[in-house]
Amino acid sequence: MEYKFNGDTALINGTWKSIRELISELPEEEFNVLAKARAIDHFLNTNRFCGRCGAPMEQADDKDIKYAKRCSSKNCEGHIKISYPVYSIAAIIAITRNDGNELLLGHNMAWQPKRVSLLAGFMQPGETLEECAKREIMEESGLRISSIRYVNSQPWPFPSNIMAGFYAEADENSEAKPDGQELDSLYWLTREEIKNIMAGNYNGKGLFLPKKGSLARKLITLWLNGNI
Ligand SMILES: [Zn+2]
Repeated sequence: MEYKFNGDTALINGTWKSIRELISELPEEEFNVLAKARAIDHFLNTNRFCGRCGAPMEQADDKDIKYAKRCSSKNCEGHIKISYPVYSIAAIIAITRNDGNELLLGHNMAWQPKRVSLLAGFMQPGETLEECAKREIMEESGLRISSIRYVNSQPWPFPSNIMAGFYAEADENSEAKPDGQELDSLYWLTREEIKNIMAGNYNGKGLFLPKKGSLARKLITLWLNGNI
């Protein structure tokens, strides 16, 4: 399949569609191919000139990867060092308390009202993913977490990221409070309450969950079914 991109929309079969909507519409394997194409498109568009010397970039002869690039100047170190797409990595964390019976969901101030999801954030240089998870959760909610373990991952094409999903437990005596900068509300919800949200009748609070097909939704569903 051939894709074209314009920001976070993709041209598929003659129709422009939001990539965020396609998460729920495409089978996982197809969405991952789309994510790869988006990452390569972003790489080619943002690597037209060498970051070392400013000369134009040219196609590198890497027999396995057709989209690799290198600096066209033979005087530049970049001529022998091939460039590949770089992915930003984010940790997304399903945090529970009360013997795993309550799950933490938050509302990000940039989102539409009442939409809630797991807490997440980008890894900084020099961090492990587990350190990233701890720092992001501390920054956004003031909560200390432990027993962090990796569960699953997903290419996240906005434009070129990978989400790594974790499960963690909130430390006893550690309270979650929204930071007021990224998050404005946090909810500890039981399985019963989340099932009610899915059924569209959560006590009039009107919350709604991440889209089907997203890693956040997958982690929530795994927890709901007692699989993490
Ligand atoms: Zn160069």
